[in-house]
Amino acid sequence: MASFQETKEEIQRRADLVGLVGKFVKLKKSGRNYTGLCPFHSEKSPSFNVSPERQFFHCFGCKKGGNVFDFWMEYHGVSFQEAFRELARIYGVDLPERPFSEADRKKRDLRAKLLSVEEAASAYFSSNLRNGLEGSVARAYLEGRGLDPATMAEFRLGYAVNRWDGLLSHLQDKGIDPGLAEQTGLLISKANGYYDRFRGRVIFPIFDLTGQVVGFGGRCMDDSLPKYLNSPETLLFHKGELLYGLHEAVSAVRETGRVIIVEGYMDCLALRSHGIREVVAVLGTALTPGHVRRLKGFAAEAYVVFDSDEAGRAAAVKSLPLFLNEGMSARAIALPEGEDPDSFVKALGRTKFLELVSEAPALFDFILDLKSKMISGLPEEKALLLNEIAFMLKSVSDETISALYVRRIAQRLDIPETLIWRRLREQTPGALGEDKFGPGDSLEWMRSADDYGSDLQILNLMVHHPGSFLQLKGCNWGLMTSASVTVELIEAFFRSYETDGSVIPEGLGEYLITDEARRRLREILLHPSIYTEEGLEQAVSEFRERHRQTELKELIRQAKEKGDISELNALLKLKGRSNKK
Ligand SMILES: [Zn+2]
Repeated sequence: MASFQETKEEIQRRADLVGLVGKFVKLKKSGRNYTGLCPFHSEKSPSFNVSPERQFFHCFGCKKGGNVFDFWMEYHGVSFQEAFRELARIYGVDLPERPFSEADRKKRDLRAKLLSVEEAASAYFSSNLRNGLEGSVARAYLEGRGLDPATMAEFRLGYAVNRWDGLLSHLQDKGIDPGLAEQTGLLISKANGYYDRFRGRVIFPIFDLTGQVVGFGGRCMDDSLPKYLNSPETLLFHKGELLYGLHEAVSAVRETGRVIIVEGYMDCLALRSHGIREVVAVLGTALTPGHVRRLKGFAAEAYVVFDSDEAGRAAAVKSLPLFLNEGMSARAIALPEGEDPDSFVKALGRTKFLELVSEAPALFDFILDLKSKMISGLPEEKALLLNEIAFMLKSVSDETISALYVRRIAQRLDIPETLIWRRLREQTPGALGEDKFGPGDSLEWMRSADDYGSDLQILNLMVHHPGSFLQLKGCNWGLMTSASVTVELIEAFFRSYETDGSVIPEGLGEYLITDEARRRLREILLHPSIYTEEGLEQAVSEFRERHRQTELKELIRQAKEKGDISELNALLKLKGRSNKK
């Protein structure tokens, strides 16, 4: 049986970080690295970097970064142990026997148990749909709603029988503790036992991005209320982050570059049944920043389908700032009054729906249009509306895009552009064009160079040319820099050399104490070498000379302090000699 360390290394060997991250974040090759919009903070220009050579990621905006395990933990919000287990599963690496502490093991086991309860329940629900009288009614209902068997099977639709103990007795037969099932929200406890949450409903399993069932949605087939019922928030199920159908839509979203967002499971499945595969549904909530952040990793543009009623209009208005904040381009698809995607595609077909998609106006134009139709044209009303829109626009950092928006507002409301610009600037003190980070951004690197003085050069030499840097062993680095982070990195370098007999720069993290040093290391690793092979020898001797001078200066200072005249004279002579060289 492999040790924990061996298993960890095996996972890292097999995992290709660019490929893995690329499943969740749209990456573009940029020099030696890949860049994309950071999935961990709001940004409009990419500062998220992945290094294929060194297998780590780093964001220059929020400073998050690390290896494949760090990415998985941060992205999926799981513990190291869970990430370890998941990645081992994905890359087909056997787990070591005793990888974790007792507490970790318990948490990991609970999650695994809850997942197996969800899986058992899902299998039970789908067998209900295939068999029995009640199941045939549900099947007829779904077929009547136009779902084809392939889509039903792909999404593993099911049926919960109309009993208080259908799932309960099935799970008990399987030897599953009802108390455990209660933690998935599938069973609800009462005075002397448990009962089923989902009864007499068509069941939609909800998958996470790795394809595991983490919760359920249930729809009734008559007029009883609520029409839709979801799993409650559990250890596995967070509806503000999950999107129905995303796991199945990912490849189509990548191909088309767009994602269509609808409100319900049935809308999502109806479009799928008609061959429109790049579609996801929110789970009975409004769109959240978490949703948009997740989607922008896959799609260039979001197409949000809104109802043409009051609630739909309000939802459109509310969603605009989410997209503006995340820098994701969005369009609005407004269906004719009284239609939803399900009824629309059924009545008019795929081609008509795709026409709506191709004609969809930008979400901003859609809202501007909506709003300006609602006012009569009185100056006071225009001023109020302008304030409202300027407020929404304050999160646009790209001046070109702002200019386009401003022109449209001017045309639509018949207001001079200058007036709108003035109002915008009032709303956004000092703004327009903030957060720009990235190794390609020379300004950022000039700033780093200013901040750290020669530290950038020292560290660049250290990580890109460890062999040359070793020649500087024994220097008093505390004299050469005032940044404790730099000293920590250099000390780690030599400690690693003493322990292992060689240095792998990207492995220095193990020898570092502070997170700041780890961040700094990633940034230095992402920046290309500033030395040529030919220039290395000269660089080393220049460092040596600079070190000698600094040391001398320090000794002179000390001698002056002590008032040691003969020592001072000797040192000054030494200094004069080296200056003449
Ligand atoms: Zn970030």
